[in-house]
Parts: sequence; C-alpha cells; structure tokens
Amino acid sequence: MAAAKILVVSGDGIGPEIMAEALKVADWFAAHRGVKLEREEALVGGVAIEAIGRPIAEETIARARQADAVLFACAGGPEWDFLEPGKRAGDGLLRLRKELNLFANLRPVKVFDALVGASALKPEAARGVDLVIIRELVGGIYFGEPRGIEAIGNEDQRGFNTETYSSPEVRRVGEVAFRLARTRGGHVHSVDKANVLEASQVWRNAMTAYHAAEHADVTLHHMLVDNCALQIVRRPSQFDVMVMGNMFGDILSDCAAALTGSIGMLPSASIGAPRADGRYHGLYEPIHGTAPDIAGQGIANPAAMILSLALLFDYSLGLSEEAGMITAAIERVLADGLRTTDLAGPGETPVSTSAFGDAVVAALGRA
Ligand code: NAD
Repeated sequence: MAAAKILVVSGDGIGPEIMAEALKVADWFAAHRGVKLEREEALVGGVAIEAIGRPIAEETIARARQADAVLFACAGGPEWDFLEPGKRAGDGLLRLRKELNLFANLRPVKVFDALVGASALKPEAARGVDLVIIRELVGGIYFGEPRGIEAIGNEDQRGFNTETYSSPEVRRVGEVAFRLARTRGGHVHSVDKANVLEASQVWRNAMTAYHAAEHADVTLHHMLVDNCALQIVRRPSQFDVMVMGNMFGDILSDCAAALTGSIGMLPSASIGAPRADGRYHGLYEPIHGTAPDIAGQGIANPAAMILSLALLFDYSLGLSEEAGMITAAIERVLADGLRTTDLAGPGETPVSTSAFGDAVVAALGRA
C-alpha cells in the first residue's frame, strides 16, 4: 500500500507518554505487516500556546486537511484552561474538528472479559458489552440559534438555546451508523425524544425514511432517550450501534464509559463524510484529558491511545484486520494480568505506561 499520511499530535500532560506507546504499535505494523505511515508531528494545545501564542496554527489545520488522518492524544492544563475563549488549549481541538467538518463522533464501549470486575455494573450486566455510540457532533442544541441570556426585569434572567435538526443532518450521521452496523451486529438504535421535541420528530422521521430507502437490511430500533439511559445501566448488552444528537450523545456516552472500568480504556473517532473509496478522513483520540495529576510519572494507561490507533487503521486506512489485531493484543495483555495504576486492584502491582505498551507489542508478535 502507498504510505498513509498521519498527523501526530501529542499535546499536553500525559499526551507524549501515551502517544509514544501508540507509535511503538504503529512501528510494529510497519515492520511486520507493511503498514507504511508517513508521520508528521504538530503542536496543538498548551504546547502550541507556549510556542506560538495560540492553541493551533493555521498551517497545522492545513496539514490536518491534507493528511489521511489525525492521531491526537490530549490537550489542556490548568495553566491554559482559563484564558479568553478562542485562546484556550482546548480550542485547538475544537477548531480542528470544526474545520475538518467531523460531524460524527464514534465511541466504542467494549468491556474486556479481564476487566468485568472493574466495571461500575454487576459482572453479569457488564460481561460481553460491545457497543458503539455515534454522537452527532456539529449540530443540535450546542450550536442552534437563537441562543442567549436576556434580562427579564427585577435582575432576573432568561436563558435560551435552540435544539434543531434538519433531515440532511440526520441522514448523514444515519449513513455512518447504518454502514457501521452492517460490519457488526446489524442493529441500530436511534435515540431521541420524539414524544416531546419537534427536532426529535424530524430526527425520527428522517432516520425512518432513510433506513427504508437505503439500509433496510439493517434492523432499526427507535428508543426514547430517558429509557435509553435506563437500558444502558440495566442491560447494555442489547446494544450494537447507537446513534443520537449532540447533547444526548454527550451525556449517554459518558454514562456508557463507566461500564468499562477506567477512562483510560476508551478511544474515539471523529469522522466526516466517507470518501469515494469508502474510507473516512478522521481524528482519533482517547476520550480522556491530559491527566495533569499523573503527568510525567510514566504511569498513565496507554490503552485508549493505542485503541485510537486501531480505529484510525479501521476507518481511515481500511485496515480492519490490523485494527482487530490491536484490540486482541490489548485483550491478551489484560488477560495476562497486566494493569496500569488506574486498573490495578488491591494487591496487584501496577505496570508502567511503557511496560504496558511493550507488552502490547509483544502480544502482537505472538498473534
Ligand atoms: P482527565 O480525563 O484528564 O482526568 C480525569 C481523571 O482520570 C484523573 O484522575 C486522571 O488522572 C485520570 N486519567 C485520565 N486519563 C487517564 C489515563 N490514560 N490513565 C490513567 N488515568 C487517567 O480530565 P480532567 O482532569 O477533567 O482534565 C484535565 C485536563 O485535560 C484539563 O486541562 C482539560 O481541559 C483537559 N481535557 C482535554 C481533553 C481532550 O484533549 N480531548 C478532554 C478532557 C479534558
């Protein structure tokens, strides 16, 4: 295969430590499976503020557009979180997502057998959970107009926001969900509040019509968001692919994250429309932040970062077999009992970030 262009952003805090482990895994695939990656590095976040006075350079955005994918660790820290809006460390990432028009955010939630005991749920509920939440990322109430705060007299205020979805916005994120379900269990749960909100009625109508017209081979279920919250903690194994608007996805994906045992286990993909070859331009990152409390100690869990590389392989490079190998290697390392501090139970000796990464590479070699 021709070399794929990857923009590597290590960012702040634990970012460089966990990225080093993901790059070890990428190097293994280059050496053993001919996966050629042309890697370029860029500064985003606090490191960019220190270097150029802004959280992202225009040139970095142009390079991200030209790359096949962006592999992103995390950005931010107390020293840069409270600057003016637009100049904060996290604004670099928001800008990248917006400029690349990454409208679908995918969060796979997989409970590895070895971590069933670390889940927030009872083992019988957590075992076997393997679902993907797709959150619409650039629309809905977080961006809807009008919005604002107005005075209503007596020093009282009224705050207002607008929940809005149009059929094309629903169809494009629905397309991502139906295509993904076809490669997995064949089920999509579309989550809304159609019994109350007009925006949700449009969501449901558009999803139903698009399913019938283009994706009738996949099974579509509709679920109200309040029931969905209950079902995620009651019987999460019923879900395969879930798709929902921006705010519902924001809340329910954090809720689902509690099933896996540690925030250090969860990767994500933000993708736009598929290209002609069926692959996506995307940005891949762990869902966690820069963990300033443990940065520089070499103890962070690199699994979410390494699993983000697996998502990049799958969605941007079409290397689904290699992506599966990475997931299987992490599973094997956990089954062997290796745990970073976030997952180590009483009496278990935690391993370092780099020892965990080395073990993943060794497990790939044994595959
Ligand atoms: P956080 O996710 O960084 O940390 C929350 C807790 O989880 C901490 O105790 C941390 O030590 C632990 N943790 C996180 N990742 C871990 C890992 N891989 N291994 C082991 N433990 C891990 O969230 P926070 O403390 O709210 O935010 C810290 C900074 O990160 C802030 O500056 C925030 O702005 C930034 N942030 C960035 C992103 C991003 O880059 N996408 C996301 C969230 C927060």
